Amino acid sequence: MVLQASRLADVRYDIRGPVLRRARTLEAEGHEILKLNLGNPAPFGMVAPEAVLDHVAASIRASQGYSDARGIAPAREAVARYYQRTGVENVTPDDVFLGNGVSELIVMALQALLNPGDEVLVPSPDYPLWTGAVTLCGGRAVHYRCAGELDWNPDVEHVAAQVSDKTRAIVIINPNNPTGAVYSKDTLEGLLDVARRNDLLVLTDEIYDQILYDGATHYCAAALAPDLPVLTLGGMSKSYRLAGFRSGWLAVSGPREPIAEYLDGLELLANMRLCPNVPAQHAIPAALDGGIDISHLLRPGGRLRDQRDRGWQLLTEIPGVDCYKPAGALYLFPRLDPEVHKIVDDQRMVIDLLEQQHLLLSHGTGFNLPSADHLRVVFLASVEVLEDAIGRLAAFLADYKQ
Ligand code: PLP
Repeated sequence: MVLQASRLADVRYDIRGPVLRRARTLEAEGHEILKLNLGNPAPFGMVAPEAVLDHVAASIRASQGYSDARGIAPAREAVARYYQRTGVENVTPDDVFLGNGVSELIVMALQALLNPGDEVLVPSPDYPLWTGAVTLCGGRAVHYRCAGELDWNPDVEHVAAQVSDKTRAIVIINPNNPTGAVYSKDTLEGLLDVARRNDLLVLTDEIYDQILYDGATHYCAAALAPDLPVLTLGGMSKSYRLAGFRSGWLAVSGPREPIAEYLDGLELLANMRLCPNVPAQHAIPAALDGGIDISHLLRPGGRLRDQRDRGWQLLTEIPGVDCYKPAGALYLFPRLDPEVHKIVDDQRMVIDLLEQQHLLLSHGTGFNLPSADHLRVVFLASVEVLEDAIGRLAAFLADYKQ
């Protein structure tokens, strides 16, 4: 008998768990499932800029060896320039670690940091890899409240109240998955102040920093807090539609001395995995230095903008459903009014929806939301597909009871 490691016992990643397994079974039985559960642009025909792909193809022969453990120099230079343009002081190529997606870097950043029982402040709802990775690394995710009535901004007073003598770091996800919130400058300054007062490492996941609607402004946390050690994460998966390349970065800013030992640990972990996938790293300078503009997707008439608008309109027309209109990212996070839709177990609801309507969505508690009254809908699909999907959801909710 081979048992799994006990350190996995409390690691939860429900958005890819039982619901996905059920979807696979239905597909194996020959059913076609409409999947709006994953922020994966390519299957929806949202492909990468040609110039980026051409540069990667042209670099393939030069990509056969291991690279520097932190990644190839041209890509680290491009990331450093990207943050310098954004107003982050003192980021040099040596402060940039490339990884096989932001996902790998999230785990590395936490592995290098946490001792058993250490606490990390994580938003609720969150992109659940953050909570899962904290747990995997022996820490405890302490969730802070992001509130629908604050346009899903974090409730800074609640954040401050969660700090204990075991708190080591704060995670910020902005623009946010799953809510689509883009945090105000005030909110960010409030979060950074909590970090400042309590000596917390700031881990800020800004993978959607360019995917903004209606003139929303994204403030880069590191630019607002040059006095704090900040790790900023970003990558190629979303803005440049290259999720399959597994290509992301982590940029260190702020004073290095207080985190010098930590950075040695991060470097050790980077060395242990030898290097990230080399061909995919070549996409980074081509995208960041190449003047690639994604505004055609975001302005009125652009695919993402139109899909967001139509998805939001249709969801909010369903009786007993309301929804914040996302200012960024790729997700709608509708709320099912508990007076109308009495849901006790939202994972069960999503499985029932899958079985009855062959539509795959994600349930709110899968994002570490405490209440079972939200769903996440990915709006990468065309307007026609979204109309079909949300029609199915409306039909399902019309007579669904638990
Ligand atoms: N961070 C957030 C907030 C995400 O939504 C995602 C993917 O959906 C990731 C990180 C993972 O990114 P990557 O594809 O670079 O691993």
